[in-house]
Amino acid sequence: MTATLILHPGKERSVLRRHPWVFDTSVARLDGHARPGDTVLVADAHGKPLAKAAYSPKSKIRARVWSFEVDTPIDHAFFKRRVAQAVRRRAALPELSGQQGLRLIHAESDGLPGVIADQYGDTVVVQLTSAGAEKWRAAIVAGLVKATGCARVYERSDSEVRGLEGLEPATGWLFGEPPAGEIVIAEHGVKMAVDVFAGHKTGFYLDQRENRRLLAELSKGKRVLNCFCYTGGFSLQALAGGAASVLSIDSSQPALERAAANLALNPVLDAAKAEWRCANVFDELRKLKAAGEAFDLIVLDPPKFAPSSAHAERAARAYKDINLLGFRLLAPGGLLMSYSCSGGIGVELFQKIVAGAAADSGRTARIVKRLQGAADHPVDLAFPEGEYLKGLLVQVE
Ligand code: SAH
Repeated sequence: MTATLILHPGKERSVLRRHPWVFDTSVARLDGHARPGDTVLVADAHGKPLAKAAYSPKSKIRARVWSFEVDTPIDHAFFKRRVAQAVRRRAALPELSGQQGLRLIHAESDGLPGVIADQYGDTVVVQLTSAGAEKWRAAIVAGLVKATGCARVYERSDSEVRGLEGLEPATGWLFGEPPAGEIVIAEHGVKMAVDVFAGHKTGFYLDQRENRRLLAELSKGKRVLNCFCYTGGFSLQALAGGAASVLSIDSSQPALERAAANLALNPVLDAAKAEWRCANVFDELRKLKAAGEAFDLIVLDPPKFAPSSAHAERAARAYKDINLLGFRLLAPGGLLMSYSCSGGIGVELFQKIVAGAAADSGRTARIVKRLQGAADHPVDLAFPEGEYLKGLLVQVE
């Protein structure tokens, strides 16, 4: 018998709006027994079933909805179907066709809470972060293999959020043989090695794909400064777009070494125009200003300063600080491409922060374009939390 999570009166509203999370504070009781990851019915205070969800007894998110159709069996076939649908949706979008690096499953926004799957050539990397996703690992992997025809699947379930679910880290090959050499993808014609074992996320920031393309388009003849460059994604696109020079800054020496190695994978790019600098961006931008440097195009793509809204205030100061420093370093007519990937900082707040930085720097600046994650990172309208990446392209006078 499927156990039933009975909600407090009124707490059914978000489920009726098709939001996939049921918080512990919304739950009155569990009727029956369920282990972590088991499928439970979610019902309103009168016992009317509303959804089928994965039970997470250790997490504040007590259940994550698999289906709002209460008669749908949650079984192997269900996951195969959901995975195939996610892959098909991407195949139907021209922006994504032919991409060698592609997010196949974007968790809640693809109806699969706790499931991330990224494809790099014929390798798929999965990250399972919830008890429900953990339980259905085999079905999800089988679905991915069937839908993509990939040669191998690697698991990178070492994200800290697994701890909140009471899950241990899990990494390793789940299907196929390890690749013979490095995994290399081409993005807009630029080769990038992807370290699926130790790189950030599943190895690469796929969400910035279209924004890197835009940077290439803007770079011709420009002095470009790329802050928080990681393995050089934006830097190499700037070079490919014909930048006059590209200075890239990151505090991680290994990331910079990978970036330089990525540049070496692309002999058509002029390595003499690239400089990699290991430094703290906050300090280095001040030094550059003191040295009288100026740039035509500056990218600010910092790490997540605010994982949740609880950290928003401190994070807002950090975003303000780097954006202020960025504005100060822009030559007249220059462009600032500024991002936040913090879930805790909304689109409006981010714009306010950038506006505050422009004002404090004494510059007049205009939004040229609003930026977001690529189409393989969709945002389910019922799940606005999925919209973590936001950016602004701003031009100063
Ligand atoms: N723009 C990159 C992703 C950036 S990830 C891309 O498109 O691939 C964030 C990077 O910021 C990481 O490489 C991390 O090492 C670096 N970082 C974090 N804090 C930093 C700081 N204070 N100064 C410089 N780099 C920092």
